[in-house]
Amino acid sequence: MQDRLLETIAPYRDRVDYLEVRLEQGESTSISYRGERLDGVDRSFGLAGGIRACHKGGWSFVTFNGLADLGNRVEEAISQAKLIGNETTQLAEIEPVQDYVAVELGHDPRGIGLDTKRQLVEDYNKLLLEFDPRIQTTMSGYSDRFRTIYFVNSLGTCIAQERLDVSGRFGVIARGEGGVVRQGFESVHSRSDYDVLQGIGDRVKQAAERAVRQLDAKSVKGGQYTVVLDPYLAGVFIHEAFGHLSEADFVYENPRMQELLTLGKPIAIPQLNVIDDGTMPDLPGSLKYDDEGVPTQRKSLIKDGVLTQRLHSRETAGKMQEAPTGNARAISAMHPPIVRMTNTGIEPGDASFEEMIGDIEEGVYAVQMLGGQTNGEMFTFSAAEGYMIRDGKIAEPVSDVTLTGNVFQTLKDIEAIGNDTVYRNGGCGKGGQMPLPVSTGGPHVRIKNVIVGGR
Ligand SMILES: [Zn+2]
Repeated sequence: MQDRLLETIAPYRDRVDYLEVRLEQGESTSISYRGERLDGVDRSFGLAGGIRACHKGGWSFVTFNGLADLGNRVEEAISQAKLIGNETTQLAEIEPVQDYVAVELGHDPRGIGLDTKRQLVEDYNKLLLEFDPRIQTTMSGYSDRFRTIYFVNSLGTCIAQERLDVSGRFGVIARGEGGVVRQGFESVHSRSDYDVLQGIGDRVKQAAERAVRQLDAKSVKGGQYTVVLDPYLAGVFIHEAFGHLSEADFVYENPRMQELLTLGKPIAIPQLNVIDDGTMPDLPGSLKYDDEGVPTQRKSLIKDGVLTQRLHSRETAGKMQEAPTGNARAISAMHPPIVRMTNTGIEPGDASFEEMIGDIEEGVYAVQMLGGQTNGEMFTFSAAEGYMIRDGKIAEPVSDVTLTGNVFQTLKDIEAIGNDTVYRNGGCGKGGQMPLPVSTGGPHVRIKNVIVGGR
């Protein structure tokens, strides 16, 4: 297949500054329940892709289905790029690569019958429905997707990468007295093994437990508190509030951010280290090459509190005269690659959870996340669950815990970093492409002066 693609683009190589073809061959299954009802079963196979051309700084992107018409589609991409381009093409240089990256499979979901998978989801869904009479509805889903993504470009790079994603998502909505509504959510993901979904009943039930516990919790009293984030929320915080700011396309287009995000500038407490690492094994954001054929790497975004690196595509690296980082990603070969995160997390510090809360007279412990918003440097997150911290101990549960702040101030208000970093799967949205598989990592993190909004 790679040879065929290389042959296809060979005659066109010198007609534009840059040309690439990505082709994706894949199969996928998805099953979802809503309440007691089987909401959807989808099994699909596909062969499709996209062509990108760049000429004098102008980009085109053309998709195709099947291989029959590929030559004409390449022509189309080339003429579109030539129509748009009126500057100079600035792409960071990379070495051409030839490689085949295979998945090391555990239990391969492609060999398992659709009904077996459906039964598995139904069983977990039932656990949630029967957990408590106040559970009003559920959303339980399974999906697997196996793809081989072929990539060739005019530099002579020729890569095929296999990729498997298996995941389960389990959510509930609980309704209590006075119409109070609470949600709970759990998910699992694997890059290699269907069995990640076996024997996880207790984990799935936590979605229901969390929602029901919150029904009885009183709304937190709004104010400024010392807050301890659980690892999940700390990971999402660093992805949403900081990670997106380190995407160079955002920085490049925004003069204020260029100034705020000058490399070498101290932006956090010296104990804080933040990484984005596509080379970690078996996480949703792990990949050997990004969607421009650039090897992924481990990057220190913040090292000892200092802003050290940002995330690049070949174009942003070229324009900002920094090294490419392997962060150009697309949700499929039918979408153009843009600057994205991989596995982004806060490195572990040295505090234990007990040490962290031990001297807090009155504070809030915020657990998991329901949703959030960021707007430039400002963020608002709502925790899935909250607890008061009183006299150094976890006390009564509280609901409606929303955290608001300015990311740059918050990075300086961190008081302690836990020794317990874990990475969780997530889906990231940007530029109409979502969900892109990523992971977010964090330990417990203690932050002072956080604005906590109650009802
Ligand atoms: Zn995101």
